[in-house]
Amino acid sequence: MMRRKMPDSSTEYDVAILGGGFSGGLLAWVLAARGMRVLLVERERFGRFAIGESSTPMADLVLRQLGKKYELPQLHALSTYPSWKEAFPNLRCGKKRGFSYYHHGGVPSDHRIDDGFHEYKDQTTSPKRNSLLVTASPSDTWADTHWLRSDVDAFFIKQATLVGADCRECTEVVSAEMGEPIRLTLCKRTSNDDERASQMVSSRWLINASGRFGVLPENLAASIGLRRVDQRLQTSTRSVFAHFRNVGSWTDELRRTNQLGDDEPFDPDDAAQHHLTEDGWMWMLRLDHGVTSVGWTQPSGRDRVDWQRYASLQCMMRDAKFDDATPDWIRVDRVQRMQLPIRKQNYIAMPTAVATIDPLHSTGIAHGLCGVARLVDTLLSEPVRQQDLLASYAETVERELMRIDSLVAMCYRCLRSMSRFEAVSMLYFAAAIHSEEFLASGGNMHSPLWLLGNAEFGHLIDATNRQLDRNTADTDLWNWLRPRLEPFQTAGLLDPAVGGRYRYTGEAKG
Ligand SMILES: Cc1cc2nc3c(=O)[nH]c(=O)nc-3n(C[C@H](O)[C@H](O)[C@H](O)COP(=O)(O)OP(=O)(O)OC[C@H]3O[C@@H](n4cnc5c(N)ncnc54)[C@H](O)[C@@H]3O)c2cc1C
Repeated sequence: MMRRKMPDSSTEYDVAILGGGFSGGLLAWVLAARGMRVLLVERERFGRFAIGESSTPMADLVLRQLGKKYELPQLHALSTYPSWKEAFPNLRCGKKRGFSYYHHGGVPSDHRIDDGFHEYKDQTTSPKRNSLLVTASPSDTWADTHWLRSDVDAFFIKQATLVGADCRECTEVVSAEMGEPIRLTLCKRTSNDDERASQMVSSRWLINASGRFGVLPENLAASIGLRRVDQRLQTSTRSVFAHFRNVGSWTDELRRTNQLGDDEPFDPDDAAQHHLTEDGWMWMLRLDHGVTSVGWTQPSGRDRVDWQRYASLQCMMRDAKFDDATPDWIRVDRVQRMQLPIRKQNYIAMPTAVATIDPLHSTGIAHGLCGVARLVDTLLSEPVRQQDLLASYAETVERELMRIDSLVAMCYRCLRSMSRFEAVSMLYFAAAIHSEEFLASGGNMHSPLWLLGNAEFGHLIDATNRQLDRNTADTDLWNWLRPRLEPFQTAGLLDPAVGGRYRYTGEAKG
């Protein structure tokens, strides 16, 4: 293989970022806009397909706060669906009014599980339905978005470049030397496969924004002491996913079968739609240009089950065709992945490079954006403050990831029953809503989120798991959990009277 020297731009940077996903691109943009010399290195092409598309009120709140603090009005525009569509009509996305969960109960038959969605009757006295809708925004005006990641990620890179960041695609770090500064050898793939162009650069900070599929060069990983600790995560799932065209409308299906209530808080298709089954669950995120992100996730350790055994899922997918972006299903054998340390000297990992928990509850984008907000604030701080902030960053991110993992794992324990699933998922919603309210009221972004500041909430999670160990009956679980959750929430969660329709809208967006 031939090596030639890469054409020079600057070779000294304040910050080198590995990975051009949304978190790397946004970090590069904000830092470069504040005058830092930023290098961003992406091993693929910019705007490649990426999964992780469903944003949340917390994610949008952090975008708004970043936009305001660093005078980037584009970020404010991206924080709601209508303002996004108005400011960036070519940036593809979808409308998200909340989270919806439909339980497809079923009885195994010879070859197929009859889809019991329509017949299923919840036996408990608690929620009367087999579905749950949690509203995230009070009206269409404040709707959240599903991001077409290829567009959003490329947009951030473009903005970063416009304010002076040196963003390089098809480029990898092939070796690195830790120190002050860190020295990196970059290698760029050229159009000639046998040729590589290389260059030495140096940077004060090295940020790992390489996401779930990132692999750092061996000598860098060794000098940081990077190690995989996936076994620490309780959640264990596998997933297949792809983008499709012509996915049927669930709202139409509900209407056709007289299942669409006249009290639905939002159109069920304008949601991060979760189709729960005993075997696993399917997400559907509808984007405006006719593409739907579809994924099937199953707890590990159980037999693989084909979602096609569920008649109503099959019905929605009947005419579906793979979109060009993903000509086939993409398979991930274990979704969960975690690596430590989060920080070593001037190396820092984004939360999304430290761990991937699970698609359930869509926590990745929000956590990634919190990481961007914290790191921007830290890297722009006076050096005397930086060391404390970085020490707290590493501890906080690790604890938050473990917290999210424990809340998600609990939901997987309850996949078999909508009533149980609703009960335990309210612990997650209480923690998320609390974080939104805390940040919206001007709370310190460096503080641990997801109710980590309240030891009692941690005890409640443990105690709820013990109830699940005991196989407490659904109604008893509700009756036990409801008063105990009360001190941690303001949103009327776990109210049997609302029949699984929660109209609370999180932080006050007005
Ligand atoms: C199946 C699944 C479903 C998910 N669903 C959701 C969801 O609905 N909502 C949500 O919020 N989150 C979801 N997530 C999590 C979400 O995917 C991640 O949080 C998000 O993609 C992280 O973005 P990122 O920019 O940090 O990293 P990525 O999007 O992974 O980008 C990292 C980039 O780094 C590049 N790279 C890797 N290694 C190197 C290297 N050594 N040098 C240079 N470049 C490198 C990669 O090519 C990539 O472009 C899901 C995750 C999975 C696995």
